[in-house]
Amino acid sequence: MAAEVKGADAGAATEAGRDFIRDIVRADVDAGRVKNVVTRFPPEPNGYLHIGHAKSICLNFGVADEFGGHCNLRFDDTNPAKEEQEYIDAIMRDVRWLGFDWGKNLFHASDHFERLYGWAEDLIRAGKTYVDDQSQEQIRINRGTLTEPGKNSPYRDRPVDDNLDLFRRMRAGEFPNGARVLRAKIDMASGNINLRDPVLYRILHASHPRTGTAWKIYPSYDFAHGQSDAIEGVTHSLCTLEFEDHRPLYDWCIENLSVPSRPRQYEFARLNLTYTVLSKRVLTTLVRDGHVKGWDDPRMPTLAGLRRRGVPPEAIRDFIKRIGVAKANSLVDVGMFEFSVRETLNRTALRRMAVLKPLKLVIDNYPEGQLEELDAANHPDDATAGTRKVKFSRELLIEQDDFMESPPKKFFRLAPGAEVRLRYAYFITCREVKKNAAGEIVELRCTYDPATKGGNAPDGRKVKGTIHWLSAAHALPADVRIYNPLFTKPDPSAGENFTADLNPNSLEILDARVEPAVTDATVEVPVQFERNGYFCRDQDSTPMRLVFNRTIGLRDTWAKEKAVS
Ligand code: ATP
Ligand code: MG
Repeated sequence: MAAEVKGADAGAATEAGRDFIRDIVRADVDAGRVKNVVTRFPPEPNGYLHIGHAKSICLNFGVADEFGGHCNLRFDDTNPAKEEQEYIDAIMRDVRWLGFDWGKNLFHASDHFERLYGWAEDLIRAGKTYVDDQSQEQIRINRGTLTEPGKNSPYRDRPVDDNLDLFRRMRAGEFPNGARVLRAKIDMASGNINLRDPVLYRILHASHPRTGTAWKIYPSYDFAHGQSDAIEGVTHSLCTLEFEDHRPLYDWCIENLSVPSRPRQYEFARLNLTYTVLSKRVLTTLVRDGHVKGWDDPRMPTLAGLRRRGVPPEAIRDFIKRIGVAKANSLVDVGMFEFSVRETLNRTALRRMAVLKPLKLVIDNYPEGQLEELDAANHPDDATAGTRKVKFSRELLIEQDDFMESPPKKFFRLAPGAEVRLRYAYFITCREVKKNAAGEIVELRCTYDPATKGGNAPDGRKVKGTIHWLSAAHALPADVRIYNPLFTKPDPSAGENFTADLNPNSLEILDARVEPAVTDATVEVPVQFERNGYFCRDQDSTPMRLVFNRTIGLRDTWAKEKAVS
């Protein structure tokens, strides 16, 4: 994988929504080679979808839509040992959530098992396949290496009738797992290892989520994929680069079988993101070994995790559009993804106030027992979002970080003797700092200027700082979950010991206070906690205890990096 990190203008070339895949499709349509464009998104239901899959989903559904065709959702369910109904359900939920609809075009490779089997028999009768009795280990050894040719199997020249008989008995369940396989008879000396008599069928006694125990043999990916494309009338089979070396086998199958249509495979670069692992094997291990709380843990790059974290689907689609589709592998800066999330949320999220690390503040000259309701704008750039009332009283909470006892020069927030604006409320001046026995600041005593209601002084005096606050008696307690990157390295290992790169501080929980209006928001729809970032209510919230996830902070590290480079 190339380690070059894509910069800000990576998507520029595809700004108009064009890329080499769309060029190919356009040319096929213009030349009349293809009338109705059909694509497919083919997940294996052995895990949840992640943001890499989103690239493939947006490409396949996007191309079909732009050319007036359609995109099938096809489950590549050829390995029951690893596939589960939970994953099938999650994949459908996540594709829909991302904004795509396959309509009636839902397929499973298992829908085609009977036809695939028939084609395998056709190949046997044509002398193009054979049943091999070698063990998996022998097959592996005899396959050769990149520099050495493979060796023919001793079973390669088995007579057609014997092959047919054995293959039928494999299907009937007469042999245990691994006893025999069906292999294509292509070329054990091929420079492309995928063509050294690839395995087309293996014995597997396992319960399949859809076909139960009806089948004792299952087709390989290579034998199922192209033929499924052909059955479904797929015209452009778009997959990631690792399948480039499989294309000759894809074509071999299509050319040697009487399939109903002629699909073609094209490869594009998979999405790789800094600080992120997109290998299903690693993601499965993270869940299984309890490194995260589940597939939808907001630290996970899964669509379910991003949804729970509050990332809107339009932000994912925007990101995918920006990065474009290319033929060379690259590593995309996760900052680009964050850019899309901030852009979307800045436009859509309603503003609220929350204090993440509360510090008590008492306004000595504000009458005890007095309560005011002040107007606060729900969105600074969108008047139609309206306003809400926020309660103001003598005892407030502010952010610990918004006070410094001995501030440096450019600190414009609260300090002894300093005056600041409380957002939507009044100017206040800090008169006294109270500490506990340990010397920690526990309370600030302030005065307010009643003439500054709404945030402006009639005498024209200015304050530099505006801070947010809550009325102590009216604020609701909430656990706020702050998520940090799951991995500490920009290019974490996806190998055996990937846990070495796990960030031990990927989750912090704060005992925060929030304004009551936050409960209006739906779970997973983020609001902006002013000056703190975007947050959404988590499904773990109870009437007794709110729980919020930080979707993303406000700080635009991306813009900063851009300015530096
Ligand atoms: P694995 O992690 O084992 O390689 P996979 O992610 O390829 O599995 P599939 O269910 O086979 O899992 O993926 C479905 C489709 O999504 C495939 O066409 C695959 O090419 C595509 N896809 C998977 N990962 C990415 C990625 N990071 N970027 C773009 N497309 C991807
Ligand atoms: Mg795959």
